[in-house]
Amino acid sequence: MSNYDVAVIGSGPGGYVAAIRCAQLGMKTALIEKYNTMGGTCLNVGCIPSKALLDSSEHFHNAKEHFGEHGIGLKDLKVDLAQMINRKNGVVEQTTEGIKFLMKKNKVDVYHGMGSFVNATTIMIKGEKEETISAAKTIIATGSKPSFFPGMEPDKDRIITSTEALNLKEVPKELVVIGGGVIGLELGSVYARLGSKVKVVEFMSGLIPTMDKALGKELQKVLKKELGFEFYMNHQVQKVTNKGKSVELDVKDKKGNDVKITGDYCLVSVGRKPYTEGLGLDKAGVKTDDRGRVDVNDHLQTNVPNIYAIGDVVKGAMLAHKAEEEGVFVAESMAGQKPHIDYNLVPGVVYTWPEVAAVGKTEEELKEAKVEYKSGVFPFKASGRARASMDTDGFVKVLADKATDEILGVHMIGPRAADMIAEAVVAMEYRASAEDIGRFCHAHPTFTEALKEAALDATEKRAIHI
Ligand code: FAD
Repeated sequence: MSNYDVAVIGSGPGGYVAAIRCAQLGMKTALIEKYNTMGGTCLNVGCIPSKALLDSSEHFHNAKEHFGEHGIGLKDLKVDLAQMINRKNGVVEQTTEGIKFLMKKNKVDVYHGMGSFVNATTIMIKGEKEETISAAKTIIATGSKPSFFPGMEPDKDRIITSTEALNLKEVPKELVVIGGGVIGLELGSVYARLGSKVKVVEFMSGLIPTMDKALGKELQKVLKKELGFEFYMNHQVQKVTNKGKSVELDVKDKKGNDVKITGDYCLVSVGRKPYTEGLGLDKAGVKTDDRGRVDVNDHLQTNVPNIYAIGDVVKGAMLAHKAEEEGVFVAESMAGQKPHIDYNLVPGVVYTWPEVAAVGKTEEELKEAKVEYKSGVFPFKASGRARASMDTDGFVKVLADKATDEILGVHMIGPRAADMIAEAVVAMEYRASAEDIGRFCHAHPTFTEALKEAALDATEKRAIHI
């Protein structure tokens, strides 16, 4: 039996990053992954493949809708979905192979097979062969899987999850998306750009409900205008039926009236749930909470002191970069360091076009907490860079403390918001004021000037270009 300082179960962005950091810090490390490929949800059926398809579909959409205005004529434009999916698979393969290389480079022993606790320091791995290893410490990083409500059970044929949506054989004529959250809107955008009529059914009154309300409102407007999305807000799905070549949804509207919505596929994207099946948590004595998540304290330590848990399988936002931060945090804690994660400064991003990105407190949260704040807004239609690229939808909003001017939240919807939010994160990590950002020199013409202008608007209502 091989003995390790640390065993990491799950090779997603939480697990593989934790394994690398443990190895960097001198620990003898094993990484256990039940599938043959590494990288977890993020690399195989999440962040990376969805972004690959978002990019391809955006190229098609731009070529079809906007190239003419740029003076570029194209004839016989068509979508080759099989090639698009092939390219996406190639990107996934390259990326997952990269993880293999990183494991070798860092001398992490990789085991492929289902890991399950025999006790708190012994793990059985059932793959092609059965092996048992011992580990002084273990990090659980087993992630999550799609969840659904009764009546909308995916059959992976017509009633699908994000995993099947990343591998469709045809562009749906009509795609019904249950859930107006990040995954539904991103994958809905992919197919709307390729020609599908997308119908979003959402129980709540706004899209991307955990983000600042103004972002969801603007995104809804743009997706309707640009991609012809149809929205059924305040509608509750009762039942989804596979009718062979189509799907039918029984839905109740806000007033309780029965509504039928049809399409040829239905994407169920109502959230994800922690995945701990077959892990043998009971054998190790590890407790879960009332939502099935592995229960951890502020040090991401379970009730069994030598076992830690990170990423989607524990509380908090289900985001790859949050999982990565937690992987580093646990490795460094184990090595006796004093790492820190400020969960308020974990940015959230939606890779629609325009992109949506945010960090810190929303206006709704500040109001609820009775914090006195100032707000500055700058619309992209006033940005020269945005006009040059015809990306004038959206805005940047900066929220700052009324008395101290400290930035409390930054919310943006617009071109390259996903990349631009990093500036706001850095500023907030250093507890910058809105005036600080207003005084930093931003290259011209760039989209980032919109953040500077919104900061100027927040600090003293002295934006230059509005
Ligand atoms: P996972 O990535 O889920 O990895 C867990 C791994 O553990 C898996 O490989 C699994 O096979 C393995 N495993 C489970 N049980 C065992 C066991 N008993 N033994 C051995 N191995 C086991 N997040 C973002 O930040 N940005 C995005 O753009 C983004 N886009 C997304 C798009 C889609 C369509 C989806 C579905 C998700 C997206 N996410 C995105 C979320 C992101 O993928 C997750 O937050 C992230 O993957 C969580 O990482 P993790 O390491 O906790 O778990």
